[in-house]
Amino acid sequence: MSLEEIKSRITKAEAAAGRRPGEVQLIAVSKVQPIDRVTGVLEQGHRLFGENRVQEAAGKWPDLRQDFPDTKVHLIGPLQTNKTRQAFGLFDAIHSVDRPKLAKTIARIAQEEGHCPPLFIQVNTGEEPQKAGILPAEADTFVADCQSMGLPVRGLMCIPPVEEEPSLHFALLAKLAARNGLTGLSMGMSSDFERAIALGATHVRVGSAIFGERVKPG
Ligand SMILES: *Cc1c(COP(=O)(O)O)cnc(C)c1O
Repeated sequence: MSLEEIKSRITKAEAAAGRRPGEVQLIAVSKVQPIDRVTGVLEQGHRLFGENRVQEAAGKWPDLRQDFPDTKVHLIGPLQTNKTRQAFGLFDAIHSVDRPKLAKTIARIAQEEGHCPPLFIQVNTGEEPQKAGILPAEADTFVADCQSMGLPVRGLMCIPPVEEEPSLHFALLAKLAARNGLTGLSMGMSSDFERAIALGATHVRVGSAIFGERVKPG
């Protein structure tokens, strides 16, 4: 599939859901993709990308940004507290705020640096033990705690369990966001982004459908 096809599928899904055209942001997930595929998508004019590892992004995006200076890169994978300051320098948004310790560290570094990227709180909607994220029952309290620390919480993010119908998880995330007055919804990947848009996604994270299958797992 190509970038153009994905964009046109997004436009159709927006229309079908009665959403404003262009309301949904496409995050092209470039993790572990060969660099020529990434520059190919940049050369087609796309400027919003997602990476799931700080180290990998650090090895790639400072150079690419020199050639394509208006590019935005979002962190969509786990963040270790000791890499928070580095993440502030690399990313335009963080979608993986998943625990109180990380929120506190982000708040401290935001104070020191004098800025903070927009944040999404990751919710473990499937309550999977191996998966990162705040449990749904704890989401309201965690959102309030982050806001009381002054953090710019833009919305919520989820990665549904692979074996389950994702729409149930998208609907749950949308409900949690609405009840907390949050407008951002980071949900939907290659196999389910249209269903996510139907349920209110504002940011879809699409990797393999744009770039082709990843060569290494990521
Ligand atoms: C890899 C990844 C994606 C993209 O997955 P695809 O199935 O390739 O579209 C989306 N979100 C996160 C958090 C990821 O790690």
